[in-house]
Amino acid sequence: MRVPKIAVVGSTNMDMVVNAERIPVPGETILASNFFMNPGGKGANQAVAVARMGGDALFVSKVGNDVFGRQSSQLFNEEGIDTRFMLSDEVLPSGVALITVDQKGENSIVVSQGANNSLLPADFTSEVLNELEQCNMLLMQFEIPMETILFIAKYAASRNIKVVVNPAPVQDIPAELLQYVHIITPNETEAGLLTGTKVRSLASAQQAAKMIMEKGVPIVIITLGAQGALVCENGRMSVVPAAPVTAIDTTAAGDVFNGALVVALSNGMPIPEATKFACRAAALSVTKEGAQSSIPYYNEVIAGFI
Ligand code: ATP
Repeated sequence: MRVPKIAVVGSTNMDMVVNAERIPVPGETILASNFFMNPGGKGANQAVAVARMGGDALFVSKVGNDVFGRQSSQLFNEEGIDTRFMLSDEVLPSGVALITVDQKGENSIVVSQGANNSLLPADFTSEVLNELEQCNMLLMQFEIPMETILFIAKYAASRNIKVVVNPAPVQDIPAELLQYVHIITPNETEAGLLTGTKVRSLASAQQAAKMIMEKGVPIVIITLGAQGALVCENGRMSVVPAAPVTAIDTTAAGDVFNGALVVALSNGMPIPEATKFACRAAALSVTKEGAQSSIPYYNEVIAGFI
């Protein structure tokens, strides 16, 4: 049976991490004890998660014409991701995140979005759109320009491609976008911003989910960290508990959740079962450090929990 293709449209970053005794104060130079680079960006993390869960991922993203862009594209190829539409900006550099982690594990982060900011509707030529039409689901996040997200969501919805939006990082959402979205997957903070409420308990999450559905989104899944996820579909609500694990690093848990969710759904799993699968995959990721380095493979998700 042919595996359905899933489009991920989003960001690619290179995380450059230094470990130091402390975070320097303005004007100060200190020595780091260690330096490493990690490929990241929510779009890239979610595309890798789709591929590792056995999905056929098409990734549309923009990098700079530089070493980080080339390295990222090569890594995605090795993951089996379709990178024919990894675009390159001739002027802007690749997106980077400069991260300092101190001895206590506190961090300070500066993100330069670079080429991610220049992924615009004009980049979606007929060739890209034709490929998009071969997909049954589209997954997007909020690290590329909103005009692009709106344009692609509208196009996909008009072609009956199911649009899944992970509204992260948190920011205002144009009301029009919600018309095109089939599933939205905010965390508690994002659900709060979407509804102008504070989401701090299951009751407030249920209230927020109801309000988001009233804005026109048929399926709302609010991720609740170590509590799991709240699933709301056609007015029915249920909680999928998180898989019990010892969390070491929750970086990219949301990205793994979204990647696993769309693969399960595109393979025909009903929403509650797909959410359970996504929770299991995300739980495994929090037992390992890093972003892409912590994304599990399908066999690990199945083996770890049967
Ligand atoms: P992040 O920003 O850390 O990537 P997020 O804020 O987008 O994550 P969360 O709601 O924190 O999203 O987590 C996503 C999913 O990951 C949860 O629905 C849950 O299934 C899983 N998860 C997160 N933390 C834990 C944990 N401590 N134990 C088990 N599962 C967890």
